[in-house]
Amino acid sequence: MTPPRLKNDCFALPPGVTWTPVEDALALLKARLHAVVGRENIPLFAANGRIVAQDLKARRTSPPSTNSAVDGYGIALASCDGKGPDFTLPLVKGRAAAGHPFDGALPEGCAVRILTGASVPAGVDAILMQEDVEVADGCITFAGLPRPGANLRRAGEDMKAGATILRAGQMLRPSDIALLAATGIDALDVFRTLRVGVLSTGDEICPAGNSATEDQIYDANRPMLLSLLSRWGVEAVDLGHVGDRRDLVRARLDEAAEKVDAILTSGGASAGDEDHMSAILKAEGQVAFWRIAIKPGRPLAMGQWRGVPVFGLPGNPVAAFVCALIFARPALTVLAGGLWRMPEAYQVPAAFAKSKKPGRREYLRARLDDKGQAEVFWSEGSGLISGLSWSEGLIELTEDAQEISPGAPVTFIPYASFGI
Ligand code: AMP
Ligand code: MG
Repeated sequence: MTPPRLKNDCFALPPGVTWTPVEDALALLKARLHAVVGRENIPLFAANGRIVAQDLKARRTSPPSTNSAVDGYGIALASCDGKGPDFTLPLVKGRAAAGHPFDGALPEGCAVRILTGASVPAGVDAILMQEDVEVADGCITFAGLPRPGANLRRAGEDMKAGATILRAGQMLRPSDIALLAATGIDALDVFRTLRVGVLSTGDEICPAGNSATEDQIYDANRPMLLSLLSRWGVEAVDLGHVGDRRDLVRARLDEAAEKVDAILTSGGASAGDEDHMSAILKAEGQVAFWRIAIKPGRPLAMGQWRGVPVFGLPGNPVAAFVCALIFARPALTVLAGGLWRMPEAYQVPAAFAKSKKPGRREYLRARLDDKGQAEVFWSEGSGLISGLSWSEGLIELTEDAQEISPGAPVTFIPYASFGI
């Protein structure tokens, strides 16, 4: 079952708009993208981090029978009527233990020994914790009646057979694995893992392991983007580095289109003389130059090469990082079959002051100080990789924000909210 290809113009932004707001760009991605991977059936134990391909229903009611939440004694409240404040009941022979039910119903006027997880015998409507009971001469004595249903786990209180327990598009976490296992699911349909290639461009970029001249810099983006991808549960494919030559870029894109479902490139995305990525996408593929009202984050070239979506990220590492988190992550999630989701953000007091141009959204490298206030990196330079490593999240300043003074509430998105 091959999913349909993306439409040619899936990255096109509305014409005539000079600077597209981040929200609008995200809304377009959300509306136009869909899963580009097929499905496969895999064992549950291998499904952590995978994306569910169909709604899943509980296979059985859970717990299957009413059972005890404690080690103690089962009683019938009716048989204790009017005998307080202390109650004494004879203990019936036998017991109810986990996996070994009591044989029969609770005899009138008796109590039964019952252990945690044991099915509750018919007639028992409350369970006393053993700590609240004295046992002597084959009887239990306790003070005060428990409420009806005390310490009972009701049949079906966790899940009812046939109820939908997980939705298609959900990425499985260990807690979800527990839910599926509890209902007897041992294999399930998930989306095939999305394969995403990462390519660096630029004559000045020196791949790791080579000696760089004074005019070269080491390739920071490729290892960074590959690492992001591996945190996002996609298969990261290293497409290497190419210099600023159109024929080399073309050959590498052709090779990539054969083996990956999406491509992240960095560098060469604007309209400069040596911006071969955007030039070749324009001449021989599809491309939309994204003029987004965002800082950092320009330029962005969103396109397709032989039907494979290409995210032409900016070359500056901070801009590449921010654009990967803000645009590529939700887009790749949808391409992988997942649900569209925005990162969870928190309001915290600012530990900084800033004047900002209205009309664009800004992301600042930030972390929380020991008072829980957000401090920002000393510089907003989008080439400063030290600030990426220093930070623990991003401050998001909305389009309308202008003056931020210390103590004012700001939006902090920890990197954990971006799945990293
Ligand atoms: P470009 O968009 O190609 O003009 O690149 C913008 C800036 O990002 C330039 O200063 C590049 O040297 C830098 N840059 C591009 N690619 C990388 C990379 N892979 N690692 C680190 N810096 C890069
Ligand atoms: Mg370049």
